[in-house]
Amino acid sequence: MTDVILVLNAGSSSIKFSLFATAGEDLKLVARGQAEGLYTAPRFVAKDDAGAVVGERTWGDGVALGHEGALDHLVEFLRSRSEGYKLVGAGHRVVHGGREYSQPARVSEQLLTALEKYIPLAPLHQPHNLAPIRVLMTRAPELPQVACFDTAFHRAQPPVAQAFALPKSITDRGVVRYGFHGLSYEYIASVLPKVDPVAAAGRTVVLHLGNGSSMCGMSAGRSMASTMGFTAVDGLPMGTRCGNLDPGVILYLMDELKMDVRAIEKLIYQQSGLLGVSGISSDMRVLLESREASAKAAIDLYVYRIGRELGSLAAALGGLDAVVFTAGIGENSAELRARICADAAWLGLEFDAEANRGKSQRISRAGSRVSALVVPTNEELMIARHTRAVLTARAPARAP
Ligand code: AMP
Repeated sequence: MTDVILVLNAGSSSIKFSLFATAGEDLKLVARGQAEGLYTAPRFVAKDDAGAVVGERTWGDGVALGHEGALDHLVEFLRSRSEGYKLVGAGHRVVHGGREYSQPARVSEQLLTALEKYIPLAPLHQPHNLAPIRVLMTRAPELPQVACFDTAFHRAQPPVAQAFALPKSITDRGVVRYGFHGLSYEYIASVLPKVDPVAAAGRTVVLHLGNGSSMCGMSAGRSMASTMGFTAVDGLPMGTRCGNLDPGVILYLMDELKMDVRAIEKLIYQQSGLLGVSGISSDMRVLLESREASAKAAIDLYVYRIGRELGSLAAALGGLDAVVFTAGIGENSAELRARICADAAWLGLEFDAEANRGKSQRISRAGSRVSALVVPTNEELMIARHTRAVLTARAPARAP
């Protein structure tokens, strides 16, 4: 019987899952998949570790299958294929752990109540992250669950990197820079010693460039500063999010355009970034293939802002030893990496165009003062590792 850990990443209209066997030193992926199109056109697909489809279902348009129904189907699917496997725990991606949680935490009623307090800090994500935890608590009360936070890795940042210049009464309400994508950065920090010990021990900026994009300055594997702040709409332009914005723009939108909170939320989260600037798509591949001037303008802005943030993070780190590209764009787009590295020449990065085209892990020249690396991220594996660690941690010995 092989022990397996279920990893869940629930968004507003999808639940992604992965199953990891805990037999070996590291964990081994057994299956993964997702239920998507929740509330509109739900469909479920599960694949084995080789990518072959092992489960599939659609419900047809108009079926109001939500998080609860999708999770029920997933539990049923797992039970139907449970021969030889024993589910020993579930790990969840939870976007917000506030200032309190700098480590993953075992789920309890108390923890859930504490995490619900962060819903106003991340209203678009936190409720969806917590929903499956509640459902599993009632469907499988004996199953241990672990919450892993996207903010936790950044709690190591010095206080000055977490602060806004706002009155203390506002700061005390939790209005500080939290930073996100922490599970991705933590995974990169965990594999970096094998990839490049100098980068692991030194001052490294990791560029998580995907649909959501951010950058993190790390010193010896600890987060020192990040581009995302109070929410995940800050920092770089993204697929549909605007990134860093003068707060005066929000006042203008309210005063002059009479936009209310919901309209502004929609604008800055769903209608801006690559999609807003190009007017074509939020998908980098589509923009790279387009001949439209607006597609080029969107990519130019993305690259420009990455270059500026790189300089800023290098300043926060007091220098730069390496950059690491990860996530959909960072791992797959040689063209974007080439442009970003060219802009970073002034920092001492000597780019190796051939290695970049050839899918090498190291894309800087031998002898370059700053190394450039490509390292695939794996947030699900990080969650599974945390879950196993929390579940196998011994309770502290009681004093006699
Ligand atoms: P992620 O959110 O990490 O899955 O990344 C999604 C983003 O990666 C989308 O904008 C995709 O267009 C982009 N992407 C994936 N593959 C490529 C590629 N080969 N070239 C350029 N962008 C890519």
